[in-house]
Amino acid sequence: MHNFNDEELDEVINSDEVFPKLSHLGYPLFDANGNLEITEEENLEMLSLVEKKFIEILDILRISRNDPNSANTPKRIAKMYVNELFAGRFSAPPKTTIFPNRKKVDELIISKGITVMSLCSHHWQPITGECIIGYIPGDYVIGLSKFNRIVDWFSRRGQIQEELGEQIADYLMDLLKPRALAVVIKAKHYCIIARGVNEVEDKALMITSVMRGLMMDDVTLRHEFLKLIEN
Ligand SMILES: [Zn+2]
Repeated sequence: MHNFNDEELDEVINSDEVFPKLSHLGYPLFDANGNLEITEEENLEMLSLVEKKFIEILDILRISRNDPNSANTPKRIAKMYVNELFAGRFSAPPKTTIFPNRKKVDELIISKGITVMSLCSHHWQPITGECIIGYIPGDYVIGLSKFNRIVDWFSRRGQIQEELGEQIADYLMDLLKPRALAVVIKAKHYCIIARGVNEVEDKALMITSVMRGLMMDDVTLRHEFLKLIEN
């Protein structure tokens, strides 16, 4: 819990925001699915601080670290969050080369089976599934493997699936300026599977789709796309 001093309290009372804008170390705080690159030094600092906090959490949960399975758990958890599950918050965008669409390709290009490995912002439980991207190029095309890197960069943050799809679509619209774009995500949310609601794992699937450009305006095209991505 952050203890506000009078000055901070004034600022908080006079602003719409309830929580501080800077971390206790003075770093800017930003949304769970945002991105601000950090240095290697900051990364090491973060790992050590998160590890220390998880040592406290194990203590509160009364888990003995004499248990050989738990001895190094705080370190492992720190690495997992900072360098894996939240990696997309702290890393530069993936290098993506785009190429001129020399043959004036004017057909749907679809990439299926792009892995989504994300974390829900609400519960910090995994969101796992598949992203499908379809586009009709404008002046540019892109290597399909780049889609995997872009989806991964946005996924490895605290997310909600709706915003994840929008972020990917915005990024691709900016980068490629396609005539049509669709970003479909089919994913399982472990906060639903593991918690109260306890849905049957196979059935707990959430599907979101973001349509842009012609994909939104042209019903025939949209139907063609949806038919092509049916299992
Ligand atoms: Zn959740």
